This record gives sequence, structure tokens and C-alpha cells, in this order.
Amino acid sequence: MHKVLLKPGREKSLLRRHPWVFSGAIASVEGSPAAGETVRIVAQDGRFLALAAYNPVSQISARVWDWHEDTRIDAGFFRARIATAIRMRAALLGTQAGGAVRLIHGESDGLPGLIADRYADVVVMQISSAGGHRWRDAITAALDELTGARALYERSDADVLELEGLEQRTGVVRGTLEPPQVEIVENGAKFRVDIARGHKTGFYLDQRDNRQFVGKLATGRDVLNCFCYTGAFTVHALLNGAKSVASVDSSADALLLAREHVRMNGLPEDRCEWIEADVFQLLRKLRDQGRQFDLVILDPPKFAPTPATAERAARGYKDINLLAFKLLRPGGLLATFSCSGGISADLFRKIVAGAALDAGTDAQMIGQFHAAPDHPVSLAFPEGEYLKGLLCRVG
Ligand code: SAH
Repeated sequence: MHKVLLKPGREKSLLRRHPWVFSGAIASVEGSPAAGETVRIVAQDGRFLALAAYNPVSQISARVWDWHEDTRIDAGFFRARIATAIRMRAALLGTQAGGAVRLIHGESDGLPGLIADRYADVVVMQISSAGGHRWRDAITAALDELTGARALYERSDADVLELEGLEQRTGVVRGTLEPPQVEIVENGAKFRVDIARGHKTGFYLDQRDNRQFVGKLATGRDVLNCFCYTGAFTVHALLNGAKSVASVDSSADALLLAREHVRMNGLPEDRCEWIEADVFQLLRKLRDQGRQFDLVILDPPKFAPTPATAERAARGYKDINLLAFKLLRPGGLLATFSCSGGISADLFRKIVAGAALDAGTDAQMIGQFHAAPDHPVSLAFPEGEYLKGLLCRVG
């Protein structure tokens, strides 16, 4: 097995079990390991640190599979890791028929670059690391066997693939799925997931618990759901008896499916307003029109994928949160989220506090949001905590 020798002092993050080796930390590479090949990561003093998948192209030159020298990285290794991850979800969430669950959450499940989501009886996987790609057949076979899915679909089309030097791959891997749509049930609400074209693997499963929580706050209120995508917050608000819900997204396709979701769930369409617009512009327009709401939801896309883009993103978050505070009636609630890996929970709170101040509102924080428990965060991998949210109440 090839050896990757680190520069002096660069073993520290690995000793804390952080699973990435950056190219700048490497002193030398013995031989020329191929993309995805397993290598031994060794400290300058010769001490063994980890077994990892090597990637000569990426800034992240190696991603750790295991911390023990005698572990064999083979098909059995992947089967065992995948089985553990699936068991954890079954124990936490049960295996509700028609339910949708993230089965594998990358680094936090000890499987860097591998995501798998179950939508009812279909599993969608995404492989975005060279190591995952090399073990693709073993991973596919294990997912197929352990989930008993009717079909296994690949959505390896994330932006990060390019940075990893990997080709995009999408389509059915096992079984059949025509059309590539699946109906799921989430806390009593039905949704149609477009597995081929939907965002991520089709649906934002990380917001499951937050949608239920925020939905319960919507009873009897006028709600503004910004960045609504396929209307999941809208449906939960209506299920809980919202007085009205205005849903905004820049994607006409997403809004079409959102309307369909309201119909599918037998919810009152006359309480819905659908707005195809840029949220930044629309919030200004609503302010100028003097519109007021009792509950505003802001769930924007990732403004800052990396810390380097944080500053620009911070301005975006400040802008929409400031405008949202201005649209709230006294006693109104703001449920505001950030899924940017480059913005920490602490920074996000400061941004929202700054927005409230500049909006001239006295706001309290009455709750905090995180990704649902099927999106665990390894304590050694803080980058895993990408989704955070605040529930604020204005005076
Ligand atoms: N809340 C959703 C997920 C939101 S994903 C859910 O629970 O499922 C982010 C959404 O923002 C996407 O649907 C995308 O089309 C939309 N979007 C991105 N930029 C936008 C903009 N500037 N204005 C309006 N919508 C935008």
C-alpha cells in the first residue's frame, strides 16, 4: 500500500479524527497511487495515522476511511459501514412506509463523499469522492442488498464533482423506475419527489422536523414562505390551518409542483398565493406595498459553499432578514435558515441580530433549528453542521 507522509505538525487534525488531508499538509507521496486508491497516512515521525482514499486532483488529497492500521478496506468494509448507518436510522426514525430518510450522510457516517437517501421504496445515491467512486460496485451492491429497494438511482451530479476530477453520473443503477418520480409521506403530508431533476437527490430531507415545527406555528396566521421550492413548508402550514400562505420561488417548475402538492393533500387552494420572483426584489416590493405577515420563512439556497465566500453571503443573509423583520406584524415570527457550510451558527446569529437592529425591531430568539437526526454531525467534523436556523419573535 502506498504511503502519504505528512509535514511536521500537520498530523494534529487527524489525531483529532478530522477525516481530511489537504494537499498542503503532505510532505511526500510514495509511489503514484491512483485516484481513489487506499493509502496509509503517516506522520513525519513515522507514526501511522489513518487509511484513506487518495485523490491526486482535489485540494482534499485524502479522505479517511478508518483509523486502524489493520482494517481491510474492501467490499466487506463498505457493507458493514452502510449497514451501521441504516441501522442507526431505523432505530431513530423507524421504517415508516412511504417515508423518506437520509440513510448515509458522508463523512459523519464514516463514508466521505457518499450520500444515500431513501424515498419510499427507492434509494438515491450520490458519490462525490474519488474513493467512493473506486468502490462504486461494492457500495451499489450493499445498498441494493441492505435496503431491498425497488430501484437504485444515481445522482452524482453535484458541483463538487468537478473539484474532485470526477465525471457526472446519473440514472438508474439497479431495478426500474419510470417515470423517475416517487411519492413520499412526511409527517402526514404527501409529496412527489422528482428524483431525476429535483434539487440534491430530489427533496430537502434535512428540513423534515423544522417543517413540522414551523407548520404548527402557522395556525391562523398569514404566512410568507420564501424560497419555497416544491412547497413543503407551505403544505405543513396549511395542514395546520394557516389563514393564508404566500409562497415565493424563482423556479416556475418548483412552483408548479408546489401547487400540485397543495392539491394532492386536499388543502385549500384559495388560501394560497404563488409568486414567481426573486426573493430579494419581492421582499422590497412587499415592503413598499405595506404588506404584513405573522410568520415569515426564509430558507434560501447555499449562499456560501465555502468560508472564502462568507462575506458576500453574509450581506445576502443580512438583506433578506432585515426586509423580513420589516414585514412582520407585532408578535410575528421569523423562521430563518442558512445551509451555507461557510457560515457558522455563531456568525449566522450575529447576522440576524444585525438585521433586526437595522430593521429597528426588538426581536427575541425563541428557538434554534438544525438538520434532522438522520443528518448526523460527527463531533470530529464541524463542517458537517451546515444547516442552522433561528426562530425569532418580534415585539
Ligand atoms: N424550503 C424548501 C427548500 C428551499 S431550496 C423546502 O423545504 O423544500 C431553495 C429554493 O430557492 C430553490 O427552490 C430555488 O429555486 C430558490 N431560489 C434560489 N434563489 C432564489 C431567489 N433569488 N429568489 C427566489 N427563489 C430562489
